[in-house]
Amino acid sequence: MQVHKIQAAVLRKKGGPLKIEAIEMEGPRDDEVLVRIVATGICHTDIDFLDDWDEPDNPVVLGHEGAGVVERVGRSVKSVKRGDHVVLSYQSCGRCPQCRSGHPAHCEYFYEANFGFKRLDGSNALQRSGVRGHFFGQSSFATHTLATGRNLVKVPKVLRLELFAPLGCGLQTGAGTVMNSLGVSTGASIAIFGTGAVGLAAVMAARIVHASPIIGVDIRPNRLQLALELGATHTIDNCHDEVASRITEITGKGVDYVVETTGNPKMHRLAIDVLNPHGTVALLTGESGTDSLPEGRRTLGIIQGDAVPQRFIPKLIALYRAGQFPFDRLVKFYDFSEINRAIADARHGDTVKPVLRISEV
Ligand SMILES: [Zn+2]
Ligand SMILES: [Zn+2]
Repeated sequence: MQVHKIQAAVLRKKGGPLKIEAIEMEGPRDDEVLVRIVATGICHTDIDFLDDWDEPDNPVVLGHEGAGVVERVGRSVKSVKRGDHVVLSYQSCGRCPQCRSGHPAHCEYFYEANFGFKRLDGSNALQRSGVRGHFFGQSSFATHTLATGRNLVKVPKVLRLELFAPLGCGLQTGAGTVMNSLGVSTGASIAIFGTGAVGLAAVMAARIVHASPIIGVDIRPNRLQLALELGATHTIDNCHDEVASRITEITGKGVDYVVETTGNPKMHRLAIDVLNPHGTVALLTGESGTDSLPEGRRTLGIIQGDAVPQRFIPKLIALYRAGQFPFDRLVKFYDFSEINRAIADARHGDTVKPVLRISEV
């Protein structure tokens, strides 16, 4: 097995800061690909983990929106070759009934494969350095990583690879919720609670499928302005306006769909209150849904927008190229060495989607 000297931002202390360290990585195995990371997005799941995680004896490498160039290909991987540009997404097992029926976001081993900090066989490529990797099958806050055919997506070389990094989680989740999980159709009314990267991806997708009205709800005026520019027909400032009565003013009743990204229990309750009969609340907060609400209303727990990355990410890139999914408006680039500042900016809401530049294409 080959050993590679890499640099990675290691989490050793609850809440951070992350420290960029020289470590060693073994691989790739036959079913893996060695990827040199060009850029990686920072997603709220990284920040939540950083804040909740408290195992100083088990340092980890986070990062799960990597984009990079294939450097070495394991024997059994046929989907990419050396030099290909790839975007990394979430990991799945490929063998369980959910994976086999085309729903890898509902993989029975989703937790182990994405949050286990090891391969599904229990091994860890960063073992030599006493650090755990394989977060979302990638741990992309690093100069190099290992992925498998199941979580890498080949992308066209004609466009800026560093821009594609956030497609692998946040943007796929927001857009996939509207287009796949909810299947929102022309003329349906939708409210999007929280206009961060995931919420704004949902706004852009709602415009693509001709939902109307599209109502963005947030507490930050700059994000509400961006929501209007990206496709929201109305916005509600939750600091100053009463959300339920404003929605009634706009639609004359409630809405057919709510996309709830805030994780605030009050907003969860409110999402149900403003729903039309037979309407659906999509919970992008890790909670599971329930069908037992009155008049056919339901809540639906969403994972990764039910997207199959190898199909959905190329679709989002095609929409971007057609000018319909201008997600570049959300992105701000930082050098890898500025990772802690990028995290702070995301935390405070100054940056919607920080993307770290790690190497040149
Ligand atoms: Zn599976
Ligand atoms: Zn994420």
